Amino acid sequence: MADYFQEMGWRELEDGEQPNHLLHMARFLIDFGLYEDNFSGEWPRLPPAASKEAVKNLQEIVIDTGDKSCPICLKKFEINSKAKEMPCHHVFHEKCILTWLNQTNSCPFCRHELPTDDEGYEAYKKEKLRAEQRKEDIETLHNSMFS
Ligand SMILES: [Zn+2]
Ligand SMILES: [Zn+2]
Repeated sequence: MADYFQEMGWRELEDGEQPNHLLHMARFLIDFGLYEDNFSGEWPRLPPAASKEAVKNLQEIVIDTGDKSCPICLKKFEINSKAKEMPCHHVFHEKCILTWLNQTNSCPFCRHELPTDDEGYEAYKKEKLRAEQRKEDIETLHNSMFS
């Protein structure tokens, strides 16, 4: 009967041969998250919906000019009608922005992000911020040493 490990391409190390330490080390680093300095990942899908709290807290304003339009449906606002203002000061019909924020958390105009109720996404955002700050720290240190 053929040896199972031989069939799978495995074999015993020969005398004087070393196991692949580099490969082992790389796996080790990845497992322990020590590769996060290179963190440049993007959230792989549309960010989750805005948190209910954030949506509830959107400012309500009264439209006082006839030449603004809603970036979502592109219709002009009627004077004296009510609209919702995002923290980035972009203004939308209530129905338009509520439908939008039910899908994803950022302003459709400038991508300003609202908080979400999604723990995974919030952790991802924190990690991304940390990675960016660390990169800045390293650059600052580098500049102070070499300029
Ligand atoms: Zn609209
Ligand atoms: Zn905006």
